This record gives sequence, C-alpha cells and structure tokens, in this order.
Amino acid sequence: MAVDLIQIRALAERKEEENWKFRQFVKFECKLDEKEIDRQVWEATKRVWAGIDCTACANCCREVRPTFSEEEVNRLAALRNDAPAVYWYLSGA
Ligand code: SF4
Repeated sequence: MAVDLIQIRALAERKEEENWKFRQFVKFECKLDEKEIDRQVWEATKRVWAGIDCTACANCCREVRPTFSEEEVNRLAALRNDAPAVYWYLSGA
C-alpha cells in the first residue's frame, strides 16, 4: 500500500472522476439500505486498516496540524504547567 504522500496525491487526482462517480452511485443509485452500506464500508475499512502501520507512515504527524479549542488549550496548559501560548503556537492558531 502506498504511503508516499506525493504518490497518494497523484493517485487521488487520477481517480477523482472515478471516485466522484462511485460516490454518486452510492448516494443515488445503490439499492442497499444505509445499514448494509455501513456494514460493507466497515468490513472494507477493517481489511484496509489491517494492512496499514501508522507508526511506519506517520504522514498524519508530519502533515496534519491539530486544532484545539480555547478550553482544550487551557486544559493542556494547566495539565502540563505551561503557558497557554505554547499550545496556541503548536496548533497553528
Ligand atoms: S499515519 Fe496512518 S492514517 Fe495517517 S496517513 Fe499514515 S497510514 Fe494514513
């Protein structure tokens, strides 16, 4: 499975039309009820996640910045005995 973000972005762009058509199909043409769709998505998700090792990838940690509410920032700062500004800086707010 690809974990290189450049490859994943390129693949996502190449498959955009196909993905859009699939989404339209599921939303408007698929005859399965919502519970059956959820069940199938859950099964597919379990199969995919079984082959993924986030600790070997860590792209989320490099690419995604967390967002914190003011309350969360204040709780983190109090917990760690830090100034709230440290967590505002880390969250990119
Ligand atoms: S860290 Fe896990 S969830 Fe994040 S991009 Fe990598 S495999 Fe996907």
